[in-house]
Amino acid sequence: MSGPKAFCPKCKREVNCLVEQESLCCPVCRYKFEQSDPGAKPEIRTEKFDLLEAFLKCLRAIFIAALVIAGIFLVLLAFLFAACSHM
Ligand SMILES: [Zn+2]
Repeated sequence: MSGPKAFCPKCKREVNCLVEQESLCCPVCRYKFEQSDPGAKPEIRTEKFDLLEAFLKCLRAIFIAALVIAGIFLVLLAFLFAACSHM
């Protein structure tokens, strides 16, 4: 029952860790720490997501701008309509 080898920050040495849910537990000092094995967690590239997020932010900005312009236009239209109907 040997767990994955990891470096215990408390013992300052490699130990056969006990896996406990998301974290590792040192069998010597019972210190719990995050799995720091670079091979265990593949690096997730977030470039695509960042691009999508930027695009969505841009889209939202355009949408808000359009909404503001539409609001101003409606107010102007209402003023014009009121002015015309009073004449
Ligand atoms: Zn330890």
